[in-house]
Amino acid sequence: MAKKSSLFECQSCGYQMSKWAGRCPNCGSWDEMLELNETQKQVLKETSSAKQIKTQAKPITDVEVESITRVTSGNSELDLVLGGGIVEGSLTLIGGSPGVGKSTLLLSIAGNTAKSGKKVLYVSGEESLGQIKLRADRLESLHVNLYLLCEIKLSAIKSELLANSYDILIIDSIQTLYSDELSSAPGSVSQVREITFELMRYAKESKTAIFIIGHITKEGSIAGPRILEHMVDTVLYFEGDSSRELRLLRGFKNRFGSTSEVGIFEMTDKGLISANDISSKFFTRGRAQAGSAITVVMEGSRPLILEVQALVSESGYHNPKRSATGYELNRLTMILALLERKLEIPLNTYDVFINIAGGIKIQETAADLAVVAAIISSFRNRAISKDTIFMGEVTLSGDIRAVFNLDQRLKEAQTQHLSKAIVPKKPSIKTNIKCYEVDEVSKIIDWM
Ligand SMILES: [Zn+2]
Repeated sequence: MAKKSSLFECQSCGYQMSKWAGRCPNCGSWDEMLELNETQKQVLKETSSAKQIKTQAKPITDVEVESITRVTSGNSELDLVLGGGIVEGSLTLIGGSPGVGKSTLLLSIAGNTAKSGKKVLYVSGEESLGQIKLRADRLESLHVNLYLLCEIKLSAIKSELLANSYDILIIDSIQTLYSDELSSAPGSVSQVREITFELMRYAKESKTAIFIIGHITKEGSIAGPRILEHMVDTVLYFEGDSSRELRLLRGFKNRFGSTSEVGIFEMTDKGLISANDISSKFFTRGRAQAGSAITVVMEGSRPLILEVQALVSESGYHNPKRSATGYELNRLTMILALLERKLEIPLNTYDVFINIAGGIKIQETAADLAVVAAIISSFRNRAISKDTIFMGEVTLSGDIRAVFNLDQRLKEAQTQHLSKAIVPKKPSIKTNIKCYEVDEVSKIIDWM
C-alpha cells in the first residue's frame, strides 16, 4: 500500500507544501500551516479535476453552444457588468472593502428579483433578522418572496436548501460561514474552498444563481482570494471610497460575458442607484488650485471626467517618498524620472504624492499627461484653470501618444462645459473645445 502523503496548507494565502513549517515561505505569516485531512484532500482533488472531465475532441461545427438563461437584476448597472443580467446556475463573487455597499446592493437586488416573482434566500452571518429587515425596508426591498436566514453553519444552510428551493441565493459573507467538517477557522483558506465548492455544486445542480459577498482586507485581497477567483464563474469588485457617494463595480472575470463594462453607482439613503449624471460628480469645479489637473478616462464604454491631484514637497530624507493612490506607482516613478531628465526639474529631492479623487483606480494610460500637469503645477505652485482637460499617454522617450476614443472623451468634456483640451493630436470631429496639440513632454512646460 502506498504511504499516505501529508499536505500542509497556509491558511492565510493557500500555499501548499509537503512538510510543516512555522512560517509560510510564500506570505511570511506565522503558525498558519495546517495539515489537510483526507476529506480536505478529496475536495482539493475534486475542485482541480472538476474541469478535467475526460471527453473526446469533436469538429468545431458540431459543438453546441450552451444556452444561457438570464434574468434582470432590476439594476441596470449590475446587469451591464454581468453581461445582460443574472445567469441561471451561476456563482458570482462580489468583493470590496467593508462599507463600500456590497450588502446594500445585494439586498436591493434580492428585493427587485423577489418582486419580479423569483424566490430569493438571503443568508447573513453578519446581521440579525431585524437589522436586515430594517435595511430592506429602507431600500424598499420588502417582499413575501424574499426569505432571510441568519446562519453561519454550512450544514444548516444546506438542509434549508434541501427542504426549499430558491431561484437566487445570497451569502453575506463567505468569511463568516464555516463547515463543521473542518477544524480551521471561518474565513481560512480551507473553509473558503470547501464552502465555495459546495455552493458551486449546488448552483449547477439546482440552477440557482448564487452571489457570494467577500470582504477585502486592507492589503486588498479576500481570504484565499486566488482560490475563490478560480472557482467561481464571475468576479466583481467594488471600488470607491466609503466616505464618498460614488462607487464603481468592475468585472475581473466573467464566464458569461466580457469584463470590459463598469457599473457606476451613487450611494444614497435609498441604496445604490445607477449614476445618471456621472461625470459631474467626480470633480469639483470651484477655484483652481495648484496640483490639480483634469482628465477623461474610459470606464467600459463610458467616458468619465476625473481629477488628478499631486503634492510635491521638499523632502527631508535622502530617499524621497513616492506614493500613488488610484494610479500605478511604476508609471509615476517613470514619469518622475522623465521629468527630471527632460525638464531638468530636481524632483529627486522632493516627495511626490498622487491621488485620484473619488477613490477611483485609473486603469489606462490616457491620464499620464494629467499626472505630468498636476506634478508641474504643484512643483511651481501655479494653478491650472479648471476648464482644461489633459489627455495623452507618456512614453519613455518623452513623446505623448494619442489616446483611443478621443472624440467621445471630448464630447463628454463638452457636455460638462469644459473649454480647453491639451491633446497629442487634434480630433477628427468638430468641437467647441479649443484643442492644443502637445506631442512631447517638454512642450507642456511652454504651454503652462
Ligand atoms: Zn501563506
